[in-house]
Amino acid sequence: MYRLICTGCGKEYPGDSPAFRCGCGEPLEVLSNRGSKRFYPERQGILNCFSSFLPPLKDESSLSMGEGWTPMPRSFAFVSEFDFELYLKNESANPTWSFKDRGTYLTLLDAVEKGYKGFGTVSTGNMAASVAAYGARMGMNTTILVSKGIPSEKIRPIAIYGPRVIKVDGDYSELYRRTLETGPSKGIYFSNSDVPMRVEGSKTIAFEIYLQLGEKVPDFVIVPTSSGGNIRGIEKGFREIKEAGLSERMPVMVAVQACGCAPIHNAFDSGWEKIERVPDPSTIAHAIENPFPPSGNAVLRMLKKNGGLTLCLKDEEILEAQSRLAGEGLFAQPAAVTSVAAIKKLKELTPLKKVRIVSVITGSGLKYPSILERHSLSVESISIGDLEAAL
Ligand SMILES: *Cc1c(COP(=O)(O)O)cnc(C)c1O
Ligand SMILES: [Zn+2]
Repeated sequence: MYRLICTGCGKEYPGDSPAFRCGCGEPLEVLSNRGSKRFYPERQGILNCFSSFLPPLKDESSLSMGEGWTPMPRSFAFVSEFDFELYLKNESANPTWSFKDRGTYLTLLDAVEKGYKGFGTVSTGNMAASVAAYGARMGMNTTILVSKGIPSEKIRPIAIYGPRVIKVDGDYSELYRRTLETGPSKGIYFSNSDVPMRVEGSKTIAFEIYLQLGEKVPDFVIVPTSSGGNIRGIEKGFREIKEAGLSERMPVMVAVQACGCAPIHNAFDSGWEKIERVPDPSTIAHAIENPFPPSGNAVLRMLKKNGGLTLCLKDEEILEAQSRLAGEGLFAQPAAVTSVAAIKKLKELTPLKKVRIVSVITGSGLKYPSILERHSLSVESISIGDLEAAL
């Protein structure tokens, strides 16, 4: 049996504890046993490839839909003088088109193993769709709690999977906390943004990056950050690679937020111990618009501990990067492109000569098609008789 440890006070809990967070309020994570471990890249799927780094979960009902093992092409659109290498870890290649599927899959296996009959989450975006999809695959009673004002164009891509969708009038971060507290007594496993097994899922991004770079750790990993669950997982993955003796160093983790909602960046930049709630969040990057992220303090501690960085981007910079990335073939959603939009600012913070950078492209552009209205896109019209002349 594995154990869980509090990222804040260090208190330990058994792995089969129904707790998702520590009594002190901070998130728990799976305590990794140190020592030598190995990868099995010849095996199928993240669970089997990375089994020696993950808690002992089993997929007896074949619930995997092929999450992970996403491509990592080189990028040239953001590299002006060819003085550094940039790679795009394209998470839009997951079953529901965002990285969330990695963690959703592992939390579903955890829920099944612990005997839960219900599955659910608090989200209006990619996590809701991912949890609804995997819940449907298992035939679980799936409950998705969304905020009251959500437009129906955002609900339909969640509702298609057939979950119970409930609009809740009230504070979002309180909803996050209350679901984790009451879920176990109702038989519902709330796979919220930064629960321990979801963080384990994000770890697999680090493992794939390491293998895709030919068993090398990059110098920088840039991650669009909201709740903080994903960047915590990726950092934990690299930490475990180091602890297993497979690399001597850690990458610099760069947490990117939108300036219109940057609680982690604000706190890091000002040297605060704890994050403060952003009163009026406003950005086009909705997938990273959490004004009071549940892993905010944990991310602050992590960045301070191993020399990480934060930065924030304005909506215009995000739109410009979205168009530039599409210009080399990849259409990603606004939140997802902040990891490439960040390159220009990163250059101002630190020299990038001869370094290797990985930008995590967290989700697909097609998840948010209405953003296309913000781009000036041209289309020509001709009659067929004019075809030769037009070409
Ligand atoms: C969820 C999400 C994020 C933020 O991840 P956190 O784990 O909440 O920090 C970033 N980009 C996209 C596309 C997402 O769906
Ligand atoms: Zn604690």
